[in-house]
Amino acid sequence: MSIIVEQLTRRFSPGGSPAVSSVSFQAPAGAITSLLGPSGAGKSTLLRLIAGLEVPDSGRVFIDGADCTAQPVQQRNVGVVFQSYALFRHMTVRQNVAFGLEMRKLPRAEVEARVDEMLRLVQLEALGARHPAQLSGGQRQRVAFARALAIRPRVLLLDEPFGALDTRVREELREWLHGLHERTGLTTLLVTHDQQEALEISQHVVVLSEGRVAQAGSPEDIYDRPTSPFVASFIGGASILRGHVQQGRAALGSLALAVPSAAREGEAVHAFVRPHDIKLARTDEAARSPSPVTGRVERLKSVGGFVKVLLRLPSGDEVTVQVSRSEFDALGVS
Ligand code: ADP
Repeated sequence: MSIIVEQLTRRFSPGGSPAVSSVSFQAPAGAITSLLGPSGAGKSTLLRLIAGLEVPDSGRVFIDGADCTAQPVQQRNVGVVFQSYALFRHMTVRQNVAFGLEMRKLPRAEVEARVDEMLRLVQLEALGARHPAQLSGGQRQRVAFARALAIRPRVLLLDEPFGALDTRVREELREWLHGLHERTGLTTLLVTHDQQEALEISQHVVVLSEGRVAQAGSPEDIYDRPTSPFVASFIGGASILRGHVQQGRAALGSLALAVPSAAREGEAVHAFVRPHDIKLARTDEAARSPSPVTGRVERLKSVGGFVKVLLRLPSGDEVTVQVSRSEFDALGVS
């Protein structure tokens, strides 16, 4: 049950820039694929186009190989979970989970059996008689999952499902979703602006920026081989060093790095460095390092057990370095 999106475009105002612009990607069958990007990148619009809640101006959506672009939401048989729980407040947990099944006119006994199965799946068997107001935020969201899964959807579409919850519950539910996915094996599309969430939970990541696909690949690809400054800095907070190819090397301030063989003399190049991939030393000691780069400390910020150091290089580039507190203390800098 793969999801394939071909050249999807959706414009909300004529002449305005499209919210989703010629987007193509594939969400592999049985995997969790994240749609990752900053706010306003077009993630929700894209998910709604796939669910059938929005109509595209152009382009096509395929689920399990079949073109469903013209199908209304009810016929697509997709399960959707939004950030806001969207549970019916006047109904019990059981009634909420049963809702979609009753709409489909399933026999009573089958509805009851399916609701039991779903409550077991989301580990809420004991809370079927409660109303949403009597549940925690995390529990409510698990009911929303049970309701979405009850119809036996072909795919699961999740729009920031943990976005309204506090960090600790969010992390717990991330683990929980991982387990749920292992049990169901459903093809899942997860909208998130949280790169940690995307890298941790998904097997495939589609990075969106300004309505377009910036890069798609495995979490390792996206993290280790970003193809643009946007992806490098949005994911993992890489610093960017700018320079030119000189005598077959990338000249980046005092650094000279290897370049891809296709690079031409004089061409502009970028190097991306992760905050934890740099070793920090005092200027007098750094001279012994094989590739020292000198900079001025502009800002220090203590974050838990780490210190973030913002350095300004002579080229003007800014570099963020992250070192452990003990490593920082050992430098003897006050
Ligand atoms: P994201 O989910 O990445 O935050 P959205 O898909 O919600 O992004 O929005 C993408 C762009 O489309 C934004 O500029 C947003 O303001 C605009 N947009 C989204 N929905 C509507 C709508 N119903 N009417 C008009 N503009 C919209």
